[in-house]
Amino acid sequence: MAESKRDYYEVLGVSKNASDAEIKKAYRALAKKYHPDMNPGDKEAEKKFKEASEAYAVLSDADKRRQYDQFGHAAFEGGAGGAGGFGGFDFNGADFSDIFGDIFGDLFGGSARRGRSNGPMKGANIRKSIRITFEEAVFGCEKELDLVLKDPCESCHGTGAKPGTSPETCPKCGGKGQVVYTSQSFFGTVQNVQTCPNCNGSGKIIKEKCPDCSGTGYTSSRKKIKVTIPAGIDNGQSVRIRDKGEPGVNGGPRGDLLVEINVSRHPIFQRQDVHIFSTVPISFAVAALGGDIRIPTVDGDVIYTVKPGTKTDTKVRLKGKGVPSLRNAQVRGDHYVTLVIQTPERLSSEAKEALKRFDELTGNTLHQNDDVDGKGEKGEKKKKKGFMEKMKEAFEE
Ligand SMILES: [Zn+2]
Ligand SMILES: [Zn+2]
Repeated sequence: MAESKRDYYEVLGVSKNASDAEIKKAYRALAKKYHPDMNPGDKEAEKKFKEASEAYAVLSDADKRRQYDQFGHAAFEGGAGGAGGFGGFDFNGADFSDIFGDIFGDLFGGSARRGRSNGPMKGANIRKSIRITFEEAVFGCEKELDLVLKDPCESCHGTGAKPGTSPETCPKCGGKGQVVYTSQSFFGTVQNVQTCPNCNGSGKIIKEKCPDCSGTGYTSSRKKIKVTIPAGIDNGQSVRIRDKGEPGVNGGPRGDLLVEINVSRHPIFQRQDVHIFSTVPISFAVAALGGDIRIPTVDGDVIYTVKPGTKTDTKVRLKGKGVPSLRNAQVRGDHYVTLVIQTPERLSSEAKEALKRFDELTGNTLHQNDDVDGKGEKGEKKKKKGFMEKMKEAFEE
């Protein structure tokens, strides 16, 4: 980048000891000649315009000019003798336009549509949101957004003036888009800068409006935009679609469309980063004896063999059944399953008998369990309260 860059003085066609006025004059001439408004669609002119603008940005600023004189282009590229990063020249950023606000104000009658920035500016970004399902976030999907997008009006080329006419410089602000009110106060002269009320800051007055856009310079149309959502996207993340935002200003590029992704909750799966978590109920019998169970995953059901003597809250890791990584879809997280032993609630009398028999066989008796409340009663009422009911109560607490 450094090698191919032309010397800023050479770009503006001035000598190394040119005065500020000479630099400004040289830049005005070049800017007038190559401004995108004057050369619509001419890439070469645009390049020359940007080159001149960049040179002017540096040479018109005493500090930056000194740094440039000392270090050359390296002064603004970070590193060697760097000026603390002038940050490169972002022609889309507002900072850059600000530098030229003053010069374009009187050059082109202030065609700014936003504040006093008259240089090429990137259009604003448009923000939308899309709701997708848990599975769509895991595996990625394609969605279509219905959007109303603005385009520069073809009839007036975005000027807003009736074809054959052109916008006139606002007489109140002289095209600057701002008016300065001066007043005397105790402290001296006070200057107050305000947006010109005559032109609303545009610096231009349209006498005859373009009939196709009612003078706005834009036409709007409904467009369907395809949004490709990558596998592994998470709730709250955004997908950027370049050049689908608002149109740029003064030859600047379009803004972007930023689509925020809202992922719906899943009834059984929860997600944390690339891992999925769920709880699967197993019966007491399966927990005790072991056996095959079905575990739902995002890839479908998996048959899992529970080991005999499994305790409740046992964690099972299903490797690679989680969410693909956004960076590398080949790498997937894991699915962690918590096995929870279910207490049966509605039992047939036969089942109850079987459980009682089981209790006796394993050495527990109803009487032994009766004393759980510590009152030492062993009455008839207590006896009728079944083992399972007691279990239930204990779990509910
Ligand atoms: Zn129009
Ligand atoms: Zn005005």
